[in-house]
Amino acid sequence: MPANIAQEAAKRRTFAIISHPDAGKTTLTEKLLLFGGAIQLAGTVKGRKAARHATSDWMKMEQERGISVTTSVMQFPYKERIVNLLDTPGHEDFSEDTYRTLTAVDSALMVIDAAKGVETRTIKLMEVCRLRTTPIVSFVNKLDREGQEPMALLDEIEEVLNIRCAPITWPIGIGRAFKGVYHLLEDRYYLYSGKGDKISEIETVEGLHADGIEAKLGEPYATFMDEVELIKEAGTPFDLEEYRAGRLTPVFFGSAISNFGVRELLNGFVEWAPEPQPREADTRPVPCDDPKLTGFVFKIQANMDPNHRDRIAFMRVCSGQYKKGMQLYSVRQGKSVRISDAVTFLASERDAAETAYPGDIIGLHNHGTIAIGDSFSEGENLRFSGVPNFAPELFRRVVLKDPLKAKALNKGLDQLCEEGATQVFRPLMGNDVILGAVGVLQFDVVQNRLKDEYRVDCVFENAQIHTARWCYAKDDKALRQFKDKQQEKLAEDHSGALVYLSSSRVNLDMAIDRHPDVRFEATREHG
Ligand code: GDP
Repeated sequence: MPANIAQEAAKRRTFAIISHPDAGKTTLTEKLLLFGGAIQLAGTVKGRKAARHATSDWMKMEQERGISVTTSVMQFPYKERIVNLLDTPGHEDFSEDTYRTLTAVDSALMVIDAAKGVETRTIKLMEVCRLRTTPIVSFVNKLDREGQEPMALLDEIEEVLNIRCAPITWPIGIGRAFKGVYHLLEDRYYLYSGKGDKISEIETVEGLHADGIEAKLGEPYATFMDEVELIKEAGTPFDLEEYRAGRLTPVFFGSAISNFGVRELLNGFVEWAPEPQPREADTRPVPCDDPKLTGFVFKIQANMDPNHRDRIAFMRVCSGQYKKGMQLYSVRQGKSVRISDAVTFLASERDAAETAYPGDIIGLHNHGTIAIGDSFSEGENLRFSGVPNFAPELFRRVVLKDPLKAKALNKGLDQLCEEGATQVFRPLMGNDVILGAVGVLQFDVVQNRLKDEYRVDCVFENAQIHTARWCYAKDDKALRQFKDKQQEKLAEDHSGALVYLSSSRVNLDMAIDRHPDVRFEATREHG
């Protein structure tokens, strides 16, 4: 029933949590799950991560290097809402994965370290959010440690990230002098008492000028009062429309590790964050309450479960309702597939999904037939746009140790490519195989997985390639002429699309000048 679908969709809050590594994303995720009742004790998320890591060699690699490669999806109920939280890898070498995850969410939560302020990854992630005007809520973390002045931090966010800040809570002191936060909209103090892993009652005091508050806050009181007065007079007030338009970010302060300020963040978040929005497809915009199921795949992940060495394709449901056992139409393949065993991502367990609604993410078991960017429907030919391939910045030539393994190599590379782990380019001339990546660690992952999963030993050599551009021309004739002239610089990517591999910036500029009829694109849409 469409009415039911609209109601269910309206409950969903689907968001990604983003930050520079070490700002506290994992810790905050844990505490959010705690409030969502999804876990009983903090530490569970890391525990789960560790258990998973041990299951395969390339995941062992991420464990050894202390980086998180994969994206997880966690669903939990909170108040009247169903929250879908998508974690993203913080390490920049896996940024493509993060960018694609950001295409599947309706909003984002940005974690900032109070001592370090805006960091390089934060800037980059903000740029990506801006591409789709994704609304952002900010959490300034680690107030229990010495850090920058809160006013200076907000100035930095406004200036560097070019977004207005509307403080919702305001910290009282910092580091050893940290006393808690004052909620500007509720006119209420939340007082800090130290570390806590369980949901503990936090002492609250009503009213900015409550009796005895000066004595309670002690030394930071005077500065805090000055700051609050300034904010009330000259600060940016919260404005829902401005937030939804991506021009303003509500800012919360706290200490994730002490579980402090997190509940207030979550309360604000579920109230303001947008519900699932209509999605653009090539033929029409698709409203959530469309009765027919549609969705697109934004990520493919291998070996999540050691008992099933298969891949899971993560599909964002855009409209309609998923029901267990239904047939889905794969638009790219032009055929129907039965999805009997999709998984949902209830934070406590990976369970069989009985049903899912717009905003939810479901996991489709995939034996190599689903690719990133694939759209699914109940039979309609419609493709969702906006899941891009990014032009790689690093290139390697693959050298096979045993030439008889060429077939296994190609199979492995094709599958790793479909997962988005790397990009493969096959030059039009010669037999080279070139790999492209955005971060150098991606090559290590590919090398390890080729060895483990496909029994292929290979080494990678530097390739003298500066960048890649996907090439499109207005008409076939122009494209043919271009191909004739530039043959030695051209390659096909994994999908057969034409790519120009330039040896330098100057070389690329010259090619662009010489071929005005050809478009050189830095991204290619999947699908
Ligand atoms: P991620 O890389 O963003 O996921 O960061 P983590 O959640 O793994 O945190 C990085 C480090 O900062 C860990 O050692 C955490 O224990 C620590 N940390 C996280 N939140 C806080 C906090 O609120 N206060 C303090 N003092 N440390 C924190």
